[in-house]
Amino acid sequence: MPPTPPKRRGLPPLVLALCYAALISLPLLPALLTGQGHGQAAMRLATGAGVAAAAMILLQMITSGRFEAISGRIGIDITMAFHKWAAPVALLLALVHVLAVIGLPDPDRPGRLSRRVELVLSGPGLWEARLALILLAVLVVLALLRDRLGMRYQIWRAGHALGAVTLVALIAWHAVEDGRAGALAAAVWILFALGVTLPALWVYAVRLVRPAGQGWTLREARPAGERLWLLRVAPPEGGDLCFEPGQFAWVAFGRKRLPLHDHPFSIASAPGEAELRFLVQEAGDFTNGVGQLAPGTRVSVDAPHGSFVPRGEGPLVLVAGGVGVAPILSILSHLAQSRSRRPVRFLYAARSAEAMVPPDLYRPACAALGVVPMLVSDRAEQGGALLRGPLTRAHLAEAFEGLDPANCEVMTCGPGPMMTFVADMVLKMGVPMQAISYERFSYAAGRASAKDRRILSGFAALWSGVAALVLIYWLA
Ligand SMILES: Cc1cc2nc3c(=O)[nH]c(=O)nc-3n(C[C@H](O)[C@H](O)[C@H](O)COP(=O)(O)OP(=O)(O)OC[C@H]3O[C@@H](n4cnc5c(N)ncnc54)[C@H](O)[C@@H]3O)c2cc1C
Repeated sequence: MPPTPPKRRGLPPLVLALCYAALISLPLLPALLTGQGHGQAAMRLATGAGVAAAAMILLQMITSGRFEAISGRIGIDITMAFHKWAAPVALLLALVHVLAVIGLPDPDRPGRLSRRVELVLSGPGLWEARLALILLAVLVVLALLRDRLGMRYQIWRAGHALGAVTLVALIAWHAVEDGRAGALAAAVWILFALGVTLPALWVYAVRLVRPAGQGWTLREARPAGERLWLLRVAPPEGGDLCFEPGQFAWVAFGRKRLPLHDHPFSIASAPGEAELRFLVQEAGDFTNGVGQLAPGTRVSVDAPHGSFVPRGEGPLVLVAGGVGVAPILSILSHLAQSRSRRPVRFLYAARSAEAMVPPDLYRPACAALGVVPMLVSDRAEQGGALLRGPLTRAHLAEAFEGLDPANCEVMTCGPGPMMTFVADMVLKMGVPMQAISYERFSYAAGRASAKDRRILSGFAALWSGVAALVLIYWLA
């Protein structure tokens, strides 16, 4: 009997958006309500933009994907996209802050502009502000160009975390050092900075001090396809893991500890099974070595995470590409074990037959559910049992045969371009947008789907609200 699934964690998107807007407006509200802002319009703009930028940067600490209260419901994909795009917006506001401090040339006060520029560039008492701006720009540029710079992910991640904590400290310092807003405002900034930094440090510290492995051990790492490995992990004695099908775990091996050396992998086994299974595709330093792991190696597991979980009750269409089949295997097995009566379709695409996982990983579940897997290979031999890839609209239409797309739930996981194609195509076929879900294995930029664009326009609306608040403060 599968264990009761964990309670659904995380706040709904609207609540999160309202909290975000409230936390950014909070430092500006007293001045807005009492009308006691700076006398000069340019300085009001500088304050408004500076405060909004600072609040946005502080909030980045808790949108890093490790807080289930934030990403538990909206998912890691949306959380990371928000985190990624909020940073350049904050940088833009920080630049507006600096430009407004400099102000425009004033014919009545010759030399004022150069004095202001000098103040910003080398004036005393502003070193922390200069350093913060440079650090913010470096963090944003490195994050956006990371994949193109060829930097090792672990090094980038450690540098990013260290840079972020330093940035928060510099911002709090600047807010306090500036002193113009008074002791109360200084106290608010310190509390704000601590309020976001301590939970972030806590999340890391708790994992760091946990004994490595906590009793999970590797049973075996066996080849499961071209540069693809199946890892079977045994639970500690008497222990097991409560998760929902489709969720993922942060995993580290041997003496390597969470959270410094962990990597995210979807759980490929179903909840309630006597082991955890992971499918790992060789993709770099860490994953290239998993095939050499010896049975008995300690495994550190931090789970469950993610919201790539079937939620509907109608027909379910599962579309997997490459190693993206991992969470889909968990979902298929779970549906089979719970004797689900949902009509299920399963489309699995890969570069070649050799790149596909062995049929024994999905055939039993498919047989129990009465599902005939549709296997698509880019290199399908003429006359073979596999359909010829890459995935097309015709394959999707075949998968939907006899189903009303308006009642279907579609879940897809695989390479970015494939997920974008599937999400857009099934939307055109009539599947409601909220019934389409996908999970990215890489946050690198790629073509956005219609659903991504809808989400981005939601972010843009939120940030436009922040900009409107700055304008109101400026003009008040
Ligand atoms: C939610 C989620 C679920 C995933 N599930 C699976 C799975 O089931 N099977 C599988 O093979 N892969 C999965 N991945 C991808 C896997 O985590 C990366 O391929 C792996 O971490 C690469 O590490 P590396 O050191 O071998 O390669 P690197 O060369 O270090 O990294 C290659 C790329 O992987 C990504 N990456 C590396 N480390 C991390 C990290 N700690 N966190 C996030 N991204 C990282 C980066 O985009 C990086 O550019 C998943 C990723 C995510 C985000």
